[in-house]
Amino acid sequence: MTGREKFFGDGVSAAERSVLSALEGAQGRMTETVLDWSAMNTGSANLDGLERMAGILKTSFSALGAEPALLDPVPVETIDGAGEVRTIRRGRNLHLSVRTQAPVQVLLTGHMDTVFPKDDAFQAATWREPGVLNGPGVADMKGGLQVMLEALKALEASPWAERLGYQVVINSDEEVSSIGSVALLQDAASRAHVGLVYEPATTPEGVLAGARKGLAAFTLVARGVSAHAGRDHASGRNAVVAAADFAVRAAALSGAREGLTINVGRIEGGGPTNVVPDLALCRLEARVATHEDRHWVEAELARLAAAVGADHRLTLELNGRFTRPPKPLDASTQALFEAVAACGAQLGQPISWKPTGGCCDGNNLAEAGLPVVDTLGVRGGLIHSRDEFLITESLVERAQLSALLLMRLAAGTIPCPPRIGAAA
Ligand SMILES: [Zn+2]
Repeated sequence: MTGREKFFGDGVSAAERSVLSALEGAQGRMTETVLDWSAMNTGSANLDGLERMAGILKTSFSALGAEPALLDPVPVETIDGAGEVRTIRRGRNLHLSVRTQAPVQVLLTGHMDTVFPKDDAFQAATWREPGVLNGPGVADMKGGLQVMLEALKALEASPWAERLGYQVVINSDEEVSSIGSVALLQDAASRAHVGLVYEPATTPEGVLAGARKGLAAFTLVARGVSAHAGRDHASGRNAVVAAADFAVRAAALSGAREGLTINVGRIEGGGPTNVVPDLALCRLEARVATHEDRHWVEAELARLAAAVGADHRLTLELNGRFTRPPKPLDASTQALFEAVAACGAQLGQPISWKPTGGCCDGNNLAEAGLPVVDTLGVRGGLIHSRDEFLITESLVERAQLSALLLMRLAAGTIPCPPRIGAAA
């Protein structure tokens, strides 16, 4: 008995044990691969880096016996500093389908992009201490992609593989709200029974994210009237003041519903102080706990834009929407979490979950009706900062957790939730 095997409980069958034990040997190659992948910059805007990474992932995932496709993203619209709509390009997204006719269908997703741009100072991984790797994307989520891949390889080596088909989607714009890939994610979700997402656990101890808030990003464009600040101040309509007024009133909505937060991130506009500015932008985000609150805050912000516009006698145009719908824990998702926890318990991995204000592709998969556990990646922490770290022993640990989950979904020991739309 070696490594983690000593933690395996009696509930783990001999056949499961044999597959899981084989994963023990993967620690070295998983760590090496994470080091290689971390060294490749894949900031969400670094299209060259993303294309290189997509090619490498395509080769790696073809080990599962089918050829992944690299699909073009949907063009993404954004509002530039002049208040005009601009189209930006994202990287390609990987899609793999295996055994689409099998009775149980699982969707596994992850992202290849990171929050660190090409010119960021944080580009290379270093060992913080033995077993703790500090590097860009090591936890979020190049480590998670390794976990997903090794778990799927383990499933393929198991006696139950034929009963379970799956799709893998690895997108290139998760860190910028997945707008270019959400259609692909939701289409894949429509053919699956269960969603597994490889975001890192929420704590170094491995706590999963349960319910997630929904997230919307808005840009308010204020268009006023320019005038000489000395000669003709009264005929000006100050767009900066209107945008600021909107910002203050919008921010005051925080807490108006339980869990509702409004964060004003940026105000831009204006110029010399002797000119009444005719253009200003206010960029803000809203997070909500429920679908009702989502509709409430959308209506409230629209009402505010109209009211502030009327008060300042200028035009306010509110752009934006919820790109991450709220993900409350429904019964089928709760059951899936309990199944994951039961697998964890038999592997000596205590699993718990808690709600979070953070969002990910799990929000969008849940909106498509899929029960989703979206933090099945590695243990680590301080993601989105230069102190991001990965606890490397969690690579094998989490691969074993997912492998056991997949084997049991295939075998039917974990009941397969009804497919979306299949229930009345
Ligand atoms: Zn992530």
